[in-house]
Amino acid sequence: MKPGAPVEASDKLKSYLEKQGVTVDLSRGTNYCILGAVGDTSGLDPDQIMVNEWVERVVRITEPYKCANKVLHPGHSIIDVSGVPVGGRQLAMIAGPCSLESAEQVDMIAAAVKKSGANMLRGSVFKSRTSPYAFQGLRDAGLEMLYQAGKKNHLPIVTEIMSVDKLEKFVDKVDLIQVGARSMQNFTLLKELGKIDKPILLKRGISATVEEWLLAAEYIMSRGNEKVILCERGIRSFETMTRNTLDLSAVLAVKQLSQLPVLVDPSRATGIWWMVESLAKAAVLAGADGLMIDVHNDPENARSDGSQSLKPERFAKLMQELKAFAKIAGREI
Ligand code: PEP
Ligand code: MN
Repeated sequence: MKPGAPVEASDKLKSYLEKQGVTVDLSRGTNYCILGAVGDTSGLDPDQIMVNEWVERVVRITEPYKCANKVLHPGHSIIDVSGVPVGGRQLAMIAGPCSLESAEQVDMIAAAVKKSGANMLRGSVFKSRTSPYAFQGLRDAGLEMLYQAGKKNHLPIVTEIMSVDKLEKFVDKVDLIQVGARSMQNFTLLKELGKIDKPILLKRGISATVEEWLLAAEYIMSRGNEKVILCERGIRSFETMTRNTLDLSAVLAVKQLSQLPVLVDPSRATGIWWMVESLAKAAVLAGADGLMIDVHNDPENARSDGSQSLKPERFAKLMQELKAFAKIAGREI
């Protein structure tokens, strides 16, 4: 509290904090009175406490999230995605087209990436596109194609959910349900995903801080579904050379703060295919638990994001080269 704060002011603040469900450790010095809130402080709002005219400063010691907090869950979570452990020694390698375009396309890409060592298949069918005039995806028909391609090629499938009304279908068909960057703060969706027993891939919002991202994970986890995998996919910055700016330091930040696995998507982070390979290697060295990489058989004619897609041959080469980087990072592919 500010120097000279009257005893009535500190008593008032103490009882305010106690009403919020914490116990208060009060220490009165010559000039300053310090109130320590002990217990579950996740519901406390520092800005609200600052409204008190005698409060000088509010310092958060404990992060506002609990379920996703490493302090309360030491170690690393390993999340099983239909037999593929994510967060352990083995790297999760998710590959596939940005958008699903046809059954033949996804089947061909699935077979190729499987052969190269990918252990999950991606492909969006409900697309979250910035422009409403851009290709919106094959929707339900596409989901069925992805499902069949996954089954045929023995790969768990990853695809984005955009609305709660598709949840039942996703629970039925999808191994790892993706929440796109643009939906990271769709709290209604997050709450519903918290009630199911399926792993969730939570992409970082385009301008979300690491704390906001972990609070989004908390929405899912606090409702019972602890199977959350994070994915850094680049954030909005002033730079225009690349589509987004890949924040590899976020991988280290998450590892420091949370037990949750974190993947990196270098395709969306840059939007430029020739940057993907080096950044994939950098991500592995930074400690990422896996990668999501766009692979397309015909990027020139892709219906979305051909510019960030690797051809299957390049992906195969990258997978070979990544082995050495994985080894240095103490991981394997
Ligand atoms: C995607 O993976 O297809 C996608 C749209 O990703 P993001 O939400 O990260 O942009
Ligand atoms: Mn895309």
